[in-house]
Amino acid sequence: MNEQGKLDVRRAVGTDGLLTVVKDIGLRDYFSGQVPLVSGELGEDFTYYFVTSEQVPSSVGVGVLVNPDNSILAAGGFIIQLMPGTSEDTISKIEKRLSTITPVSKMIQSGMTPEEILTEILGEGNVNILEKMDVQFSCQCSRERIANALISLGQAEIRDIIETEGQAEAHCHFCNQTYQFSKEELEELEAETKK
Ligand SMILES: [Zn+2]
Repeated sequence: MNEQGKLDVRRAVGTDGLLTVVKDIGLRDYFSGQVPLVSGELGEDFTYYFVTSEQVPSSVGVGVLVNPDNSILAAGGFIIQLMPGTSEDTISKIEKRLSTITPVSKMIQSGMTPEEILTEILGEGNVNILEKMDVQFSCQCSRERIANALISLGQAEIRDIIETEGQAEAHCHFCNQTYQFSKEELEELEAETKK
């Protein structure tokens, strides 16, 4: 706990390090951006990331409620990003609201929905819901994808792995899934490279 009696995220995360964001936006290469940690508080660091790396004026607020046993009771937050051409008047109104809003963790605690949180921040009558999407933790990696990546290493490289390691282990950096390939499977992939 910090002096305000809240979880001391800043102390746990530290301020000596980098925030790296890697996005798979469906293109050939990943989009990747990196900024130094400026706060250790996730909301502030993500705000800095959006403004500096993606150059989109943004405000990020996050909150988490923790059970006495340190398991997560509820977590949530918001990201506000300005569209190009937003008027100074609108910007200053949003900034003013943000400086006075109820802390996100309190809003979550009181059971507010994402729509209600938006209305709390932007004001009654200013919210227009265009689309709703569920958020979920998922990864596009698959055994097939990894196999294709191994094939793309080429015959000589796969042969080298077979001779030196006898097997291969690939680790997905996005979801932590590990994929094992036995000697026999590697030999099949090696045969694929010759097709
Ligand atoms: Zn994955």
